[in-house]
Amino acid sequence: MDHQISRHRHELKRRQLALRHTGRVTPNMLRLVFAGDDLADFVSLGFDDHVKIFVPGPAGEPAMRDYTPRAFDRDARTLTLDFAVHEAGPATRWALEARPGDRLEVGGPRGSMVISPTFDWWLLIGDETALPAIGRRLEELPAGAKALSVAAVTGADEEQVFASRADHQATWVHRPLDRADDPGALLAAVQRLQLPAGDGFIWIAAEASVARALRAHFLAGPGGHRKEWLKAAGYWRKGVADAHEKLED
Ligand SMILES: Cc1cc2nc3c(=O)[nH]c(=O)nc-3n(C[C@H](O)[C@H](O)[C@H](O)COP(=O)(O)OP(=O)(O)OC[C@H]3O[C@@H](n4cnc5c(N)ncnc54)[C@H](O)[C@@H]3O)c2cc1C
Repeated sequence: MDHQISRHRHELKRRQLALRHTGRVTPNMLRLVFAGDDLADFVSLGFDDHVKIFVPGPAGEPAMRDYTPRAFDRDARTLTLDFAVHEAGPATRWALEARPGDRLEVGGPRGSMVISPTFDWWLLIGDETALPAIGRRLEELPAGAKALSVAAVTGADEEQVFASRADHQATWVHRPLDRADDPGALLAAVQRLQLPAGDGFIWIAAEASVARALRAHFLAGPGGHRKEWLKAAGYWRKGVADAHEKLED
């Protein structure tokens, strides 16, 4: 089977949005719904697209941070972003304090990765910051698709329920947030998985050293997964602000 992974560029635009609604998916995952006519030509083709949000930085200067369009409704002109709550940086702090009516400037997405629906299975792995993309992928997969997810959160109350038509098997692992840079729990869980037969696409996003260790695990040795069929990224780095690491050789 010929699998296609295509990259699409979009016109880079900044949009002014207003916060319409705030809620919580789980105790430490905020869900913010933004609205605005600027969304009329918003494009997000890939489940792991990201936008840049502009928020006041530590000294009041603008700071940019990356967030996943968790959901987008062109007719309603709404964009949903989920924010994992942690030791607050400027984006987390903004999201925690935001109230309906507050304005947010959003840039992008600059591009999208689109993967043909030809893979026999999907394996989606990550921490809290990956859950928006994992949830979106699971919700967008058609009936009959096979998907496994392995996600690290702080406890049972942070596990999310995804509405997926796919044949989906969820594995949750628990670890405290101060161990989010230790790949041990996720590595142990993926080692126990029975992967389906056929061709699979593996997607990984987590703290950078965790994402790197998981990627190395799947690519190791002669029986390793095909590199073109795996995408891994560090979505943050412990102790470093605004860290995005694309893991490619
Ligand atoms: C492509 C992409 C998509 C992303 N999508 C999402 C998303 O949809 N939802 C989401 O919540 N995050 C997402 N992230 C991660 C998010 O951009 C980072 O967590 C970001 O650092 C948060 O900004 P901040 O201003 O709160 O913290 P920063 O100022 O960047 O960092 C402050 C401190 O907090 C630490 N920190 C940052 N993130 C975490 C964390 N998750 N847990 C514990 N400590 C942390 C840093 O190491 C630093 O010490 C995404 C990242 C990328 C690259």
